[in-house]
Amino acid sequence: MKVDAIVVGMGLAGLAMVDHLQKRGKSVMVFDSRQKGASHRAAGVYNPTILKRYTMAWEGPALLKYAVSFYRKLELELEQKFLHPLSIARIFSSVAEQNMWTTAADKKQFSYFLNPSLHHTVPPSIKAPFGFGLVHHVGRLNIPKLLESYQEKLISSNSWRQEPFQYNRLVHNKQQLLYDGITAQHLIFCEGVSAWNNPFFKDLPLRGSHGDIIRIYAEGLDSSRIWKSGLFIVPQGENLFWVGASFNNHCKQNIPTDKGQEWLVQQLERVINVPYEIQSSEACIRPTIGDRRPLLGTHPEYNRIHLLNGLGSRGVLTAPQMAAYLCRAIYDELPLPEAVNLERFSSLC
Ligand SMILES: Cc1cc2nc3c(=O)[nH]c(=O)nc-3n(C[C@H](O)[C@H](O)[C@H](O)COP(=O)(O)OP(=O)(O)OC[C@H]3O[C@@H](n4cnc5c(N)ncnc54)[C@H](O)[C@@H]3O)c2cc1C
Repeated sequence: MKVDAIVVGMGLAGLAMVDHLQKRGKSVMVFDSRQKGASHRAAGVYNPTILKRYTMAWEGPALLKYAVSFYRKLELELEQKFLHPLSIARIFSSVAEQNMWTTAADKKQFSYFLNPSLHHTVPPSIKAPFGFGLVHHVGRLNIPKLLESYQEKLISSNSWRQEPFQYNRLVHNKQQLLYDGITAQHLIFCEGVSAWNNPFFKDLPLRGSHGDIIRIYAEGLDSSRIWKSGLFIVPQGENLFWVGASFNNHCKQNIPTDKGQEWLVQQLERVINVPYEIQSSEACIRPTIGDRRPLLGTHPEYNRIHLLNGLGSRGVLTAPQMAAYLCRAIYDELPLPEAVNLERFSSLC
């Protein structure tokens, strides 16, 4: 079998990569071990503002515009709804925080997102004695539904193999790549933190940031907004909510930690006023890079082997544009933006 490209890993990065390849008329074979990666645990919140420091995420508004249009096209194509626009209510814990909000909302770069009003009419299910501010033009992407639906499309076109890609079975030379009876022109690794095991990019500066989450059932808890204090409370429908996440740069395993779980419960109980039941405790590792930028490009020695990684804690926003950059670099020989090019780190491989 011959394909234009093999893609390893189909979380948000792999999905965006495959879709860009297919839109260019390229044939693909996707390998995914279906070990639940970060994309399966994420809340799917898309928000270009950083509500802790009141700064804008790198290239935030431009990435948002590109990403929303990308997911909307997928909705039309797959005839399903994945995007759920929903305001984020930032809960204030002091007068100082209210003042910070007012100052930020006054800045030109935030005016499209931050509503300057301070809201004091709080739903009875929420504790917010200092009120809250609203972030508009943000929301949630239903990532598991999108991945499942895209996987079905790949299965029906015989482009999907649910198995781990084994690096030692790859034969590569200047002309082509050969793996398990498949010849390909290009190979793109989109493995999230599993890239720690990838011998082609063995010294990647992938740090990884562990995040604990809980999923709760809470009748009567307000679901008209995403609530944000120290954590996010994200409505999932039918009284179910995603609650998270902690940040821990030391834990390197996809398992819940006592410390992270306790912190979540403590933070949750500071914010909600209704009884709740924990449905599941989960954890995963964000593929983070020290300089907080994605990591993409071509292997310095093997020009048919590429990487798309480092989506950090904003995979929904960044994946579509980064995949577009990598596709253009491979097929149109356009340079990658320096800020995301893996060449910015020396001795990667
Ligand atoms: C707790 C938590 C909450 C988050 N919340 C948000 C949020 O609200 N909004 C947001 O934008 N981002 C969020 N993120 C970040 C987001 O999840 C990541 O940026 C994004 O999912 C990374 O996608 P990825 O495709 O690079 O990696 P992954 O999603 O980890 O996908 C990698 C895939 O590759 C497969 N794979 C790996 N190695 C191999 C191999 N050798 N062979 C075959 N398959 C392989 C894995 O099975 C997996 O399916 C969150 C992350 C965490 C941990």
